[in-house]
Amino acid sequence: MAFYKDEIIEEVRSRNDIVDVIGGVVKLKRSGSNYFGLCPFHSEKTGSFSVSRQKQMYYCFGCGKGGNVISFVMEYENYSFQEAVKYLADRAGMKLPEPEESPEEKQAQGFRNDVLSCLKSAAVYYYKRLYGPEGKTALAYLKKRGLTDETIKSFGLGFSGKGHAEAVTYLREQGFSDKVIDAAGLCNISEKYGMTDRFFNRVTFPIMDINNKVIGFGGRVMGDGEPKYLNTAETIVFDKSRNMYGLNVARRSRKPYRIVCEGYMDVISMHQAGFTEAVASLGTALTSGHANLLRRYTGDVRLTYDSDNAGQKAAMRAIPICSAYGIKTKIIHMEPYKDPDEFIKALGADEFQKRIDEAENSLFFELEYMKKDRDMSDPEERTEFQNDVAKRLAGIDDELARDNYIGAVAAKYMIKEDILRRAVAIYQEKNEKSTAAELPEPKEVRKKKDGQADKGGSDKAERYLLTWIADDERVYDAVRPYLMPEDFSEGVERELATALYEGYERGDPSLAGIMTRFAENENSDEAAAIVNAHLDAVESESDRSKALTDLVIKVKKRSLERMKNKDDGTDPLKKAMEEKKALKQLKDIRISI
Ligand SMILES: [Zn+2]
Repeated sequence: MAFYKDEIIEEVRSRNDIVDVIGGVVKLKRSGSNYFGLCPFHSEKTGSFSVSRQKQMYYCFGCGKGGNVISFVMEYENYSFQEAVKYLADRAGMKLPEPEESPEEKQAQGFRNDVLSCLKSAAVYYYKRLYGPEGKTALAYLKKRGLTDETIKSFGLGFSGKGHAEAVTYLREQGFSDKVIDAAGLCNISEKYGMTDRFFNRVTFPIMDINNKVIGFGGRVMGDGEPKYLNTAETIVFDKSRNMYGLNVARRSRKPYRIVCEGYMDVISMHQAGFTEAVASLGTALTSGHANLLRRYTGDVRLTYDSDNAGQKAAMRAIPICSAYGIKTKIIHMEPYKDPDEFIKALGADEFQKRIDEAENSLFFELEYMKKDRDMSDPEERTEFQNDVAKRLAGIDDELARDNYIGAVAAKYMIKEDILRRAVAIYQEKNEKSTAAELPEPKEVRKKKDGQADKGGSDKAERYLLTWIADDERVYDAVRPYLMPEDFSEGVERELATALYEGYERGDPSLAGIMTRFAENENSDEAAAIVNAHLDAVESESDRSKALTDLVIKVKKRSLERMKNKDDGTDPLKKAMEEKKALKQLKDIRISI
């Protein structure tokens, strides 16, 4: 990863006033020295999202998100660190120098480029073979499936050939090393056969990233071989949970929604019929990585999964993942056909557009799914179903939406509205709500929530002390002789201590600047929480001094404890003596500020 120099990043940051930047997308009201508004990262009715011009930071007291202007842009626009810096530089009218690369990075980048050009060569090779004599059957297959030459060309479809090392031989002739061919995922290596083609006797679908670079292949076998579909395994350029088939084209669609379907052929036939907003996950269920990618382009996803049981299940899985990323989902029904490909062939594009427009609200789809295997004429099963419905409705956070749904659901399933309303209220009170069919939340989201869990006693002391240090340089000066960053617990505490100490030593303790180092880091929100925590006012000087002394002693004691328990090879007796001495010294600490 190339990088910009710290000074440049700091200049970009300081030339973008945080109140102006956030004020451009969130309505902010001034209150005292801070600005408040409705948090763009969680849904709320009263503003708990605060922005400080003085600190050049934001922090949400509701969901705990916080940071500086760079992390805001990253979070809000779903940009990488580099992209956010670039965006803000443009905004401030700054021209950024070319990012710097270390020699190792240059080398790694060089290898990566080799792998990409190897993949591109392979795609060209496969495409040519499709139109050669050995590609006859494959080409006939694609034509039979209704694809035009133009479509085949624009998707770069090809045929791998039937030999066992033809592509490998070709790529070697083109000057690619075995190491590169292997890293590109284009071969199998075995002791017995050496390097052989990973794809043979397959129609090949190049998978492109959003910048139209070939990063891997999908291959469909001709005839009865197994497996029917084979993908490139994960490589340094291909991560199937963070790329989607067709997104390189679909990203530019002007439609307000994106269609998500199951397979390559679905995407291709939809694009051929004019639905260039269609994408597919790559031989895997929709992941949080996909949802995170999609939300860059749309907040409205229409699912066209196969009408069979497996497809419906996949849709049920995709709904909560999208919802966790703020994407609403609808279901496109294709009955009596199995998939979009079949549907469009049978009824044409206009009918398909109608189905897109009539896509069903995913909540009703979920409820239908719950109802599916239940006998509604059996009172017990009917009650069970109604309870599940109430639980699901209790999981809708937005009050207004919930209220509307209760009315609509009651009418649709002929449940008495007041009874349903009461049941929902009960589940809400018991906090027994199911969000989207009780499927687990995506991992990334869950991790963040765990991170916010309450920390135990001594961490509290560390955190409080850090808040204080961040707030007042005099506190830093007073604490510095007794505590070093290593005395803080590993993790966000030590990282923040290091950043604060470095900042003060440089004579530039700008908090917002310090937050930049957290921008790309999972501790970002927590660090912001510590820095923005409220300090209880301690009035008298002697009280302040005593409070600070206590904190320092607490933190130091814990640090000594950790040191003692760490097995670093030191003689335990010697360790014990040292600890005793250190503890004795602690008693003499008197800090005054
Ligand atoms: Zn929030």
